[in-house]
Amino acid sequence: MTQKPPTPTEISQAIRNIPDFPKPGIQFKDITPVLADARLFSGSIDLLTERFKPGEVDAVVGIDARGFIFAAAAAMKLRAGFVPVRKKGKLPYQTHEQDYALEYGNATIAIHVDAIKPGERVLLVDDLLATGGTAAAAAALVKRLGGQILEIGFLIELQFLNGRDRLKGYPIRSLVTY
Ligand code: AMP
Repeated sequence: MTQKPPTPTEISQAIRNIPDFPKPGIQFKDITPVLADARLFSGSIDLLTERFKPGEVDAVVGIDARGFIFAAAAAMKLRAGFVPVRKKGKLPYQTHEQDYALEYGNATIAIHVDAIKPGERVLLVDDLLATGGTAAAAAALVKRLGGQILEIGFLIELQFLNGRDRLKGYPIRSLVTY
């Protein structure tokens, strides 16, 4: 069954804005209505992966936690492996860690030391680009393992936070911008 692909406007109309969550002053972008809509969810994955054919990407790296949803689906579509970048303390095996600052607080993320082999072609995916700290830290972990980042994809980009400045040198794709 072929469905008409969603437009960025249709995706953005489904994203719910939650003021002052999880802290005062944050406009939280709730993507669950996109996930719950079959056409919007699968269409988002189609758009996030459209630059690549199956076999052109070795691993899709997803960022904890909402990034996992999009990255795992993208990995299935591209016939690539899926690699989680998780918050510190969650991965069971040996890890590399990277500290970073985020729009609301500080954090450390980690990747398994053997998750990516040197030279592997990686698509990095998260739900939202804000200041870019999270994605830059994840990209640093991928590079530390010798992975080659082909693109960094986001469902949402908060352009006014200039996250792209932290991700210079990487092709960036975002489906919806604010
Ligand atoms: P940053 O490191 O500032 O680019 O923040 C990106 C990460 O924080 C992503 O993993 C998002 O899921 C989350 N995030 C930051 N700001 C928001 C927001 N306004 N709404 C939803 N998630 C957000």
